[in-house]
Amino acid sequence: MFGVAEANDDRMLWRRRLAGGFYDFDTAQNAGGTPAPRKPAILKGKAMFQVSVDESFSAGHALRGYKGKCENVHGHNYKVRIILEGPGLDSIGLLYDFTHLKRVIREIVGGVDHKFLNDQAPFDVINPSAENLAKFFYDETSRQMNAMPEGARIARVTVWETDTTSATYWS
Ligand SMILES: [Zn+2]
Repeated sequence: MFGVAEANDDRMLWRRRLAGGFYDFDTAQNAGGTPAPRKPAILKGKAMFQVSVDESFSAGHALRGYKGKCENVHGHNYKVRIILEGPGLDSIGLLYDFTHLKRVIREIVGGVDHKFLNDQAPFDVINPSAENLAKFFYDETSRQMNAMPEGARIARVTVWETDTTSATYWS
């Protein structure tokens, strides 16, 4: 009797897992031959995939209200890293196409490259600190990304002012 009870428990657990979307063996095609919607391939708890793209740009800035040499006009060779995360992969094993992510980042970076940031919105109002730049790239990237896979989002953005100093933003 113990063995039967155990087998039933296993079936119950299996059904619960299927109902909860933990396993999906049918991501490729549905009966009509059209591509099935993207679903998580295998999910357990908070398992996530992340992909990232780095870009760089050069710009000048001056920190208003800063007591020190950074209040003077100076420049940096910035690096930006955008991390996108999501729970599932598409039918060919991708979370998101790097090419599209790069295109979006390059366009945003192009707006600040070789500029004096203090003259550019929103940095004509808020200080062009690495922290505010990270939030700016996070907000702009999140706004411009379309056709994101289900459950995917921009996870975080890091901006380096130098090789050893960076600021990260996420929400
Ligand atoms: Zn600086």
